[in-house]
Amino acid sequence: MDGNVKRVLARFDALEGELRDHEKRFWARAGELVQQAERPGVFNEALMELGAVVCTKGQPKCSSCPVADLCKARRTGKQDEIPKPARPAPRMTVHHHAVIVRRGKKILLERRPERGLWSNMWQPPTVEADRALTPRAIRKTLALPLEGMSKKRTFEHQTTHRRVVFHVYEARSKSRRGTWRALNDLSDLPMSNAHRHALELDLITI
Ligand code: SF4
Repeated sequence: MDGNVKRVLARFDALEGELRDHEKRFWARAGELVQQAERPGVFNEALMELGAVVCTKGQPKCSSCPVADLCKARRTGKQDEIPKPARPAPRMTVHHHAVIVRRGKKILLERRPERGLWSNMWQPPTVEADRALTPRAIRKTLALPLEGMSKKRTFEHQTTHRRVVFHVYEARSKSRRGTWRALNDLSDLPMSNAHRHALELDLITI
């Protein structure tokens, strides 16, 4: 259902709260009204037009509204308060277990997937999960020959839609597979600020 239509229906019946609080009611109410219309298609268009032109998001033009006499929000003077502005959706929390794998002065890097957060950028080998994982679970998922894995730190990074909790680990490996680079030779690799942060913090302990 068009957002303009929902806004008209919310004001027409003076429904408090956000539009998303009344989804079922909107469908039921629209159904009722359409059944009473002689020409349902024209009625639907008129409702959309009313929301787009007269009962607008900012300031509804009640003085020129054809349904003003029947509108509860108008009668109670609440047309400017309805609907309540939508709350931003809560951020989802994800856990990134980043393991800084060292071989001599070099660290192992991998590329992130082509889609999604920080797509195609570089990072230390990372296991993502919806909760904090044990070192054993991380090692198992990474499937890398690791020695002496230990936790360095935890920090949070906020993106528009996510709260990313970074669990930074360090380990050694004798493997030669993958991309190995010296820590002072990463400037040409696209990398998120969060991953640079993880690596810079780790640099302090070198
Ligand atoms: S009277 Fe005002 S609030 Fe009610 S439907 Fe018309 S424009 Fe919207």
